[in-house]
Amino acid sequence: MTKALFDISNRLALITGSSRGLGNALARGLASQGTRVILHGRDLDRVKEEACNIAQETGASVEAVSFDVTDAQATQQAVEALIDQFGVPDILVNNAGLQRRAPFNEYATQDWDALIATNLSSLFYVSRALTPAMSKRGSGKVINIGSVQSKLARETIAPYSATKGGVVLLTQGMAADLARFNIQVNCISPGYFKTEMNTALWQDPSFNQWVEKRTPAQRWGHFDELVGTLVYLCSDASSFVSGQNIFVDGGMTSVV
Ligand code: NDP
Repeated sequence: MTKALFDISNRLALITGSSRGLGNALARGLASQGTRVILHGRDLDRVKEEACNIAQETGASVEAVSFDVTDAQATQQAVEALIDQFGVPDILVNNAGLQRRAPFNEYATQDWDALIATNLSSLFYVSRALTPAMSKRGSGKVINIGSVQSKLARETIAPYSATKGGVVLLTQGMAADLARFNIQVNCISPGYFKTEMNTALWQDPSFNQWVEKRTPAQRWGHFDELVGTLVYLCSDASSFVSGQNIFVDGGMTSVV
């Protein structure tokens, strides 16, 4: 009973921004459960290399695709092409994201635009391209990647927080529209994990100290610790769970 509930083998998952970082770990996690994974990023060589690595490590089939999620037309075409080539994904993980830090008064327009495009508009473009096919089939799982910053503000990242707050409400709105097609849409909001995106932070001893003090678990997250929540949200175990935002943050957002 329990195994079938959480069984996600033989499903097909598209994970945006999975050439490295959290998306890569999530792809590895799904592949280790027997899910066929479509790896994605802008650098096709890197995506292909990672696809080979994950396939070798897990024995799962791993495909590689490349497109810029901030380009609405390119995204639409690429998603249609991958549906033709691989079939309609059962699972979409909207993970690709960007972080740029600067004091609010000095924040550049181009950085604001890049954050909105990468962290928010892209979820709309990719989901809009894929969910009609999921709706037609009558099933699907969409998991958006938010952040603790959807709930907590911090200096120098107001635009990032705004995009992640938007991701949470987009999740709720998509869930409302897509539930009738048996598509569940949820959000996972990670705490602090050491990736390329935040290299400057984890290389800074005082920021490390802040994370350890601010997080009840007193440490950064390990990549593997995101996988269980994702597997749950991709599986039949969460068939009546939609529009939710689950924090995987060592308790950070539950305390002041
Ligand atoms: P990384 O910078 O390590 O990875 C980002 C991924 O997104 C890469 O695969 C990158 O590939 C891809 N990507 C970025 N822009 C685009 C684009 N325009 N088109 C296509 N692909 C793109 O970031 P993280 O792994 O740290 O972050 C992943 C997600 O998790 C983000 O949404 C982030 O906001 C969120 N998050 C991260 C936290 C952390 O502590 N690291 C905490 C909370 C949330 P390429 O550049 O080759 O295109």
